[in-house]
Amino acid sequence: MSTKYGGYMGKVIKINLTTRVVNEYLWTDKDREMYIGGKIMAAKILYDNIKPTVEPFSDENMVVITTGPFSGTGVPSSSRFNISTVSPLTGLITSSNCGGNFGMMLKKAGYDALVITGKSKDKVWIEIIEENIKFHNADYLWGLDTAKTQESLPIRHGKLVIGPAGENMVKYAGVFSQERTAGRGGIGAVMGFKNLKAVTSIGTKKPFIHNPEKTKELNKKWIMNLKKNSLTGKRLPKLGTAGLVKIMQEKHILATRNFKYGQYDDYDMVSGEELAEKHLIKNIGCVTCPIQCGRKVEVDGKRVKGPELETIGLFGPNIENNDLELIMKWNLELDELGMDTISTSGTIAFAMELNEKGLWDNGLEFGKVDNLLQIFKDIAYRRGIGDLLAEGSRFLAEKFGGEEFAIHSKGMELSAYEPRGAVGQGLGYAVSNRGGCHLNAGYLVLIEALSISMDPYTTRSKAELTIMFQNIMEATSAAGNCIFTLFTMIPSAVVDKHDSVFANMANKTLTMPFVGAVVNGINRANANRLPINISSLPQTKALHHITGMKMDLGRFKAIGERGFNIERLFNIKRGLTREDDSLPKRLTEELQDLNNPKSKVPLEELKDKFYKSRGWGNDGVPLEKTLRRLKIMSE
Ligand code: SF4
Repeated sequence: MSTKYGGYMGKVIKINLTTRVVNEYLWTDKDREMYIGGKIMAAKILYDNIKPTVEPFSDENMVVITTGPFSGTGVPSSSRFNISTVSPLTGLITSSNCGGNFGMMLKKAGYDALVITGKSKDKVWIEIIEENIKFHNADYLWGLDTAKTQESLPIRHGKLVIGPAGENMVKYAGVFSQERTAGRGGIGAVMGFKNLKAVTSIGTKKPFIHNPEKTKELNKKWIMNLKKNSLTGKRLPKLGTAGLVKIMQEKHILATRNFKYGQYDDYDMVSGEELAEKHLIKNIGCVTCPIQCGRKVEVDGKRVKGPELETIGLFGPNIENNDLELIMKWNLELDELGMDTISTSGTIAFAMELNEKGLWDNGLEFGKVDNLLQIFKDIAYRRGIGDLLAEGSRFLAEKFGGEEFAIHSKGMELSAYEPRGAVGQGLGYAVSNRGGCHLNAGYLVLIEALSISMDPYTTRSKAELTIMFQNIMEATSAAGNCIFTLFTMIPSAVVDKHDSVFANMANKTLTMPFVGAVVNGINRANANRLPINISSLPQTKALHHITGMKMDLGRFKAIGERGFNIERLFNIKRGLTREDDSLPKRLTEELQDLNNPKSKVPLEELKDKFYKSRGWGNDGVPLEKTLRRLKIMSE
């Protein structure tokens, strides 16, 4: 094993699909200290290897599949793995996280990551059995949906596959492992271009753990805390992510009618409560997770995974559809075709408005749902208007107009939070490295509206808090942990009484003038200036016990910051400018509420603060001193 650190297998392999040569990719202990794993490791590999001119659909583009040191160590909610590539949807870096068991099985085979490059001449799938790596002809799998493909592969666990949408290079096709998805940014399309239908991995190896006793003890406490906390122990298991629909309605952030409004009259017909009461068979989730936020429901007599909040919000209120059973059916269909539900629904909502405004006669209408199942198939197989829809909203706006209501950032469709009711989330969407994603955004909406109701319209402290959240989430994800584990940072008392005195107190405190400056000081502190661990962030101690690395809050947040900056630099090399950190005019210039002049995203003001606080120039480019502080550039 070529690492002194626990939690790792110590080996990364590079597979060239063109030459079918497999060799080791050099990844040192120094790299492990700097980038941990997951999406940050993948960003560094792409940054070092992909020239700025490399097209998403090209032999030179890479699909980098990474795990974190937590996977396979008993840490709760740590089966997650990451896939990164140059996105065909945005032309920039994309990373997508998946809770299927492929990542854990990759480690059992003896590898921390796979770097896939080149393009196979024939349809192929790759079988990894420890040192034995084989290429198989995939003609018999080509054309199969994601469920049938997984059934047709000869092992039970450790598979990742694409469906017809990936094969046909739909720009938002995803990658699937069990019933979980790496959905965003079109990674499935890149695999389809490379003629790679599936990868399987199996083995019997295990990472060693630096301090097994302490790890066991911490994991036990951690699981207990997750079970005790109101969000992770009660709400998410009971209502799933869809439990947020009702709160989003109350807070005017439930994207409705292509983000024209923030509320929907029939919201209760598509709420998490309705799903739980009428359709839930049981809660399910990723392996190793005590939260189990997923839903098991019945569709056409089959017990399948139910829809998440994003799918419900965007295929419900956002296209004016109140039929939850239909959404369940569509969710299954899209998973089987192999497409991201967020970008599919966002693109369709935009097409509906284009039709309504007479810009594109396509037969799609808000509230008209009988033709959508057929439309999904047409997108996956690129037939008729499906061929245009398969390119995403930005492409449609360039072709037909309507840019001001094309709801995307950097080409990626936004998730279901309407940001005019939570302006910090608007900033996050705009500056997110992979485009309109709520999580890469920093998920500030969680404290702006979903839990403690920090003033959703103020710009005060929003940039600084966004940065803090982004950095912590990046590092958590890189360690291999589900970012929902971070919800325990919100005390149960606040979650249970989000409209009460607790919320008002928190709101008042967070919006005080000095808070931004304090948070900024923490964000900018050198890695060795915060040598503490806090109980609500057990990730730092866990990393120390598992790997043996020196780890504390300062080092952890610096790793997250480093990851965010490397993705940013990658995008800048590809031509990204300040203008690309954008939102459509509907969200920055149209008021959501005509009686509230603050109900739009003051994006340029927020961006100025964000750039300054990140240590970037006014052009959005990281300053040399920032890169030196982060050791991305040598001192
Ligand atoms: S909280 Fe949900 S998404 Fe996260 S690991 Fe658990 S089941 Fe998976």
